Amino acid sequence: MTMTRSVTIQEGLDVYSIRKQFPILDREVKGRRLVYFDNAATSQKPQSVIDALVNYYTNYNANIHRGIHTLAEEATAAFEATRDAARQFIHAASREEIIFTRGTTEGINLVAYTWGRQNIKAGDEIIISAMEHHSNIVPWQIVCEEKNAVLKIIPINDEGELLMPEYEKMLGPKTKLVSIVQVSNALGTVNPVKTMIDAAHKAGALVFVDGAQSTVHLDINVQEMDCDFFAFSAHKLYGPTGVGILYGKKHLLESMPVFQGGGEMIKEVTFEKTIYNDLPYKYEAGTPNIADTIAFKTALDFIQETGKEKIRKHEQELLVYATSQLEQIPGLRIIGTAREKTSVISFIIDKTHPQDIGILLDNRGIAVRTGHHCAEPLMRRFGIPGTARASFAVYNTKEEIDELVTGLQKVVKMLL
Ligand code: PLP
Repeated sequence: MTMTRSVTIQEGLDVYSIRKQFPILDREVKGRRLVYFDNAATSQKPQSVIDALVNYYTNYNANIHRGIHTLAEEATAAFEATRDAARQFIHAASREEIIFTRGTTEGINLVAYTWGRQNIKAGDEIIISAMEHHSNIVPWQIVCEEKNAVLKIIPINDEGELLMPEYEKMLGPKTKLVSIVQVSNALGTVNPVKTMIDAAHKAGALVFVDGAQSTVHLDINVQEMDCDFFAFSAHKLYGPTGVGILYGKKHLLESMPVFQGGGEMIKEVTFEKTIYNDLPYKYEAGTPNIADTIAFKTALDFIQETGKEKIRKHEQELLVYATSQLEQIPGLRIIGTAREKTSVISFIIDKTHPQDIGILLDNRGIAVRTGHHCAEPLMRRFGIPGTARASFAVYNTKEEIDELVTGLQKVVKMLL
């Protein structure tokens, strides 16, 4: 008998064949091939996603749910298939817990305006952190102002990590909600959300997780995480703009008041009284963004087919490589050096405004983001006006990082 040894081969990512799927990567900017490092703002779209949009408008454009004709049925089936794919992607228990929104921002606002207005009372406390995106600050500020509640901020250290003992001290009987970003868009820090959720639940508070930056990089299992709400945006996951998901535990979504009124969110309307629809439609008033929602499933398929683990490994390699290269540039300081990071590098260069860095890099066809990254309080915490930020995705390469490094060396020579 021949003994066969089972060997598991972890194959790497074929980045060059991935790149072929993204037509925009062939375009030139200022006479050079585009190097796109603004993925934390929005990622580029594979041809399959673009085709899904064109296919909908070419072959079965129709309004959904209400029609009985063939086109309406096809559109409805494709639209609802995205709900199932999104449920699977974040491992929610049921499709009724998956609400379509315009994006993370709308998901947070939805909960602030419904659950927040119903449950927050004078003197209650909502906890967020010093590294939140404005989308996870302002809606809670509005609720706190309206209700005379208190917004508390978890401080961070110089590496850009949450001060967990401070967080634990903040939790108490007045805490009604913790709303926390899972991955910081400006620093790349991965926050220990599971530990934070367990601690908040012990104190009797609910937890909202802002998954705008985490969902594309990490495996998301909302049931294991045990968060009460979770929001993310399709456009940061190789999908279209204008679509997002709000996940909420069913019993919470059922008990919350409605958000917007209109078609689809009703069962029956009379002038005396309206009976609202069941979940998930209760929160989906009006004609949704049908084409983009349908194409979002194609983006999720792209991620699944490529393999999240392979993508993560590739992005981590890019992060390690870029960090070691950028650290060698004189006067450059990386903002955000947490032990757990996704592929985001924010940096400043001595005596140089981030905007000038952005403009000079753009002249070389390299797209980075500059400014406060919708996290002004975080910039203030570091005492800086903003940073330049390079964020990497599945299609980026080490050669592109070399181009960034060469570009930055030129910037340093020119500006210092
Ligand atoms: N939260 C974080 C951490 C983000 O990075 C972003 C977008 O950059 C948002 C929320 C808002 O997402 P959207 O603009 O897609 O609603």
